[in-house]
Amino acid sequence: MARYVFVTGGVVSSLGKGLTCAAIGRLLISRGVEIRLLKVDPYLNVDPGTMNPYQHGEVFVTEDGGETDLDLGHYERFTGRPMSRKSNFTSGRIYWDVLQKERRGDYLGGTVQMIPHITDEIKARIRALNEPGVEIVLCEIGGTVGDIESLVFLEAIRQIGLEEGREGALYIHLTYVPFIRAAGEIKTKPSQHSVARLREIGISPDVLICRTEVPLSSEARRKLGLFCNVPPHAVIEERDVEHSIYELPLVLADQGVDEIIMVHFRMARRPARLDDWRDLVHRITHPRERVRIAVVGKYAELQDAYKSIFEAIHHGGLAHSAAVEIEKIAAEEVEDGRHRDRLAEMDGILVPGGFGARGIEGKIEAIRIAREGRIPFLGICLGLQCAVIEFARHVAGLDGAHTTEIRADTPHPVIALMEDQTRVSDKGGTMRLGLWPCAIAPDTRAYAAYGCALVQERHRHRYEVNNRYRDALAAKGLVFSGTSPDGRLVEMIELSDHPWFVATQAHPEFASRPLQPHPLFAAFVGAALQRRRAAPAMEVQ
Ligand code: GLN
Repeated sequence: MARYVFVTGGVVSSLGKGLTCAAIGRLLISRGVEIRLLKVDPYLNVDPGTMNPYQHGEVFVTEDGGETDLDLGHYERFTGRPMSRKSNFTSGRIYWDVLQKERRGDYLGGTVQMIPHITDEIKARIRALNEPGVEIVLCEIGGTVGDIESLVFLEAIRQIGLEEGREGALYIHLTYVPFIRAAGEIKTKPSQHSVARLREIGISPDVLICRTEVPLSSEARRKLGLFCNVPPHAVIEERDVEHSIYELPLVLADQGVDEIIMVHFRMARRPARLDDWRDLVHRITHPRERVRIAVVGKYAELQDAYKSIFEAIHHGGLAHSAAVEIEKIAAEEVEDGRHRDRLAEMDGILVPGGFGARGIEGKIEAIRIAREGRIPFLGICLGLQCAVIEFARHVAGLDGAHTTEIRADTPHPVIALMEDQTRVSDKGGTMRLGLWPCAIAPDTRAYAAYGCALVQERHRHRYEVNNRYRDALAAKGLVFSGTSPDGRLVEMIELSDHPWFVATQAHPEFASRPLQPHPLFAAFVGAALQRRRAAPAMEVQ
């Protein structure tokens, strides 16, 4: 029987609850505990697939094709374990399922209510992670305690605590302890209020993790513990990490968070083995080289919209013990001719995935700069589609070539819908999703990077390279280095007369891990480093 660890958040959002869960997951795995992670989101969308990354951050895709919250990306990167559709669900999903059951007559004669019908559905979905062999289910509750939307989830996890008993569930509350500069001290009151709200519902946290900018004195720990009903040793300080989010497991291990969990559950386990993780942090903090890579996307100002892309680029750097400086460039600005010189000076250019017309010509222009300037280039999904359009227009002479996603009446639809997508009308969950196989052609950069002839990568898109143009493009030198094993779908392209120009229809960024950088990202950053070494005059400041 698995035990349950629930992580709630208080005071404000954006405290890094997902990262904290991921770090705790790493610690438990390092102690040899078999875990499952799960994120519960209180909003009403059935899944985040149709939500704007501008508001919600990237949509993370699981191997089985789930469109999920970006926290699952942290979970995968920290634990090294693939998540699944089961690892994330929303209020919308719960209501949808309950209402379908109601229509089917499953509750015939009964009044359908928040308690027990909604809470039972939530509990069943949490308990679904309790598969044979699983010892701990680590469940993050999205939102902030006190939100109307989270209430029913808190009620459900309170019930699980009652059903499992004292040694079957543990509650961690992540809170914010502000430092008031004028008073020169930290304030515990917001945390007191937040925990009071939790206790009103019937949940008394066992561990309090405090996000703070300054160290917590033992007096502050004592006071927080006293008011929040938590023993002082279970009041944990989580200060902003100095260099990298990957320091977090070490910070929590130093304060014995994993030990508190083991003691609570009376689980006897070896101490956490964190040598590989310490070595990782050492490599992050002691880079041997530096390299500069531009990401030309729709949302330049936002960290979260391209979370996995940025992480995968840094992992690619780690593969070479190099630190990557990422320059975020808004594609729309490239359209007005800005950033041309800046792009030309880059060691590498990456164009990520995306939807819609905004900035598309800027992405195409950035790719042209990479191709003509012999700058290493990696295109991801829409990035591949833009690279094909750029090649079609400027090398193959197909004027006006475009994707039908943006220009339905283009004279040369080099990117278009496949037959099976033309009949789809619903937007939610209907793209080509999840793992798809790709056969890699020998003697290509793709083959050199992957080192094997068949790979599986995660997908999330509707449009594809139009097979009608394959011969014309190939005749001008575009290499189709990866296709579906039956040859019908183009999965990867590259240029052979360029130092490193590769694009993929898939999203390899979701599979990259700090301890196992994705081969394409490693090869891309490797090519960027070579360019940099060849031009030592352009030292990064
Ligand atoms: N909008 C493109 C498509 O649907 C690309 C999607 C993506 O980059 N994820 O095919």
